[in-house]
Amino acid sequence: MRSQLLNDGTAEVYRRAVTEGVERVANRFATTRRPFTGITPEELAPEISAVDLDRPLGDTSSALDELEQIYLRDAVYFHHPRYLAHLNCPVVIPAVLGEAVLAAVNSSLDTWDQSAGGTLIERRLIDWTAGRIGLGGAADGVFTSGGSQSNLQALLLAREEARAADPGRLRIFASECSHFSVQKSAKLLGLGPDAVVSVPVDRDKRMQTVLLAAELELCAREGLVPMAIVATAGTTDFGSIDPLEEIAELAERHGTWMHVDAAYGCGLLASPARRHLLDGIERADSVTVDYHKSFFQPVSSSALLVRDSATLRHATYYADYLNPRRTVEEKIPNQVDKSLQTTRRFDALKLWLTLRVMGADGVGGLFDEVCDLAAEGWELLAADPRYDVVVRPSLSTLVYRYIPEAVTDPAEIDRANLYARKALFASGEAVVAGTKVGGRQYLKFTLLNPETTVSDIAAVLDLIAGHAEQYLGENRLVSA
Ligand SMILES: *Cc1c(COP(=O)(O)O)cnc(C)c1O
Repeated sequence: MRSQLLNDGTAEVYRRAVTEGVERVANRFATTRRPFTGITPEELAPEISAVDLDRPLGDTSSALDELEQIYLRDAVYFHHPRYLAHLNCPVVIPAVLGEAVLAAVNSSLDTWDQSAGGTLIERRLIDWTAGRIGLGGAADGVFTSGGSQSNLQALLLAREEARAADPGRLRIFASECSHFSVQKSAKLLGLGPDAVVSVPVDRDKRMQTVLLAAELELCAREGLVPMAIVATAGTTDFGSIDPLEEIAELAERHGTWMHVDAAYGCGLLASPARRHLLDGIERADSVTVDYHKSFFQPVSSSALLVRDSATLRHATYYADYLNPRRTVEEKIPNQVDKSLQTTRRFDALKLWLTLRVMGADGVGGLFDEVCDLAAEGWELLAADPRYDVVVRPSLSTLVYRYIPEAVTDPAEIDRANLYARKALFASGEAVVAGTKVGGRQYLKFTLLNPETTVSDIAAVLDLIAGHAEQYLGENRLVSA
């Protein structure tokens, strides 16, 4: 099967195979009319189980035919204007091109001798991002697999910098709306079960800094060690941005590491209109950015940035077989010295091509468009008596709930909303997310597609109302 190895002799085979694959995907994009087909796991599982992995089809066309049946036909398509669910973006073409290039060349960004220019390109993008944040001349960072890994690494550095004899005494402060990877990281880092102190949010879902201050005082009185404050710049549910300046003041006063989780809000770094929403981020010790959320990049593309490059040493180990200590004196740039991963994709290439083709304003402008759309969607929801909407968005999410006219039982309203979400998904007409607010079932639009219009939003709200009413109608019949 040497004919399937990509090398000098197979360049033409590669060109044909990839072209055929791209043709099929391009056709899908040109003809997909719904974000989803509504297929169930029960319907799809037998088709995938039936594939005999020990009997290869032998040629690309047959394998692609099969793939159309078991994957491309029923995939959930984020580029569709009525995919409004999670923090997934439609992707920009230069980044998809980057993905194709990086997969074929297959550089591994752990050491210079496996990547060469790739290492330098990644470093330029780290510097570019740190510059946009305003972290100063000693900043550094590394690309990661995603926000969860970035948060984990940030908290590892914070733990090491806290130099506590007893990890059970370390405390991390994060708002009640922070991402669950903060809790997971605390567990992975061997902190105690009470390590993460959940700070309540205000009406706009921003951390209440008065309560943070009180928690920090309490922490000091009890002889505990404040390891880190995690400010979320764009909470996953509400897009709310914690008060960064005030949190920076408190972090400074208490000698605590300030981490900003901007996995979602990082798109503001490129925004021509809204960069000021991140004011104060430049005071962070570390920052998580997910280019695969608000820079329109394919999964995965993410980074951790730090104010002081020296803190990255907490992730450094030397191995004779990979990055021997002497390479430091020889000034050989080995990114593995800064990373939790070893073999690592050249994800930076996607952002590089994006910036070289579109520029920062181009990509930031797209994020501004979806933030504008969310503001319009809020007006629509706020004026619609059928719906309760939680907060006016600072970024691009809307959390709302259908409230039927004649129903007062909140549990019944919960069920109607949940039913509507599932029915909509099964119809494939649109995809929306769900979450809980104050223990009640809500629905969520995460708007990351500049192609989505206010009339899409209005149409989806009508569909949801229709499904919820259908559920309530059927239940009335049953109980009558
Ligand atoms: C999505 C998200 C994360 C996790 O990022 P992944 O790339 O999914 O690992 C962390 N924090 C926030 C605020 C997020 O929205």
